[in-house]
Amino acid sequence: MNNISNIFKEKNLKLTPQRYAIYKFLKSVKTHPSAEMIYAEISKDYPTMSLATVYKTLKTLIELGLVQELNVGEDNFRYDANVAIHPHIVCLNCGKVDDIENANFDNLKTDVLNYTDYDVLSYKLYFYGICSECKKGR
Ligand SMILES: [Zn+2]
Ligand SMILES: [Zn+2]
Repeated sequence: MNNISNIFKEKNLKLTPQRYAIYKFLKSVKTHPSAEMIYAEISKDYPTMSLATVYKTLKTLIELGLVQELNVGEDNFRYDANVAIHPHIVCLNCGKVDDIENANFDNLKTDVLNYTDYDVLSYKLYFYGICSECKKGR
């Protein structure tokens, strides 16, 4: 975690305990929480912190390249401290967002390179479905 304090220092930004707590929380979960979910969690330890602070901190963390924002549809924004390009799957019933691990999408990228004349700089891939817990409840 030394990394983040150096990055903040370089940009002359103050790494406040709240900012650090938000980043640490995002690093520790794989649930891709929304700002509201982050707020609900962090305000347990920092009751005076506002939701606006969470939004501002997320914006800073995104600008610094420490967090990526996922727009999983209908302007439902979720946050991920894993900034590598990786595909996600979203449950349409409960809104849960998971990483798709161990799947190989290199062929897809190769196809895009083959069938268009674009240089591909990045991509965002979202799948939508019904998660296992929601399937059980059906
Ligand atoms: Zn679900
Ligand atoms: Zn992810």
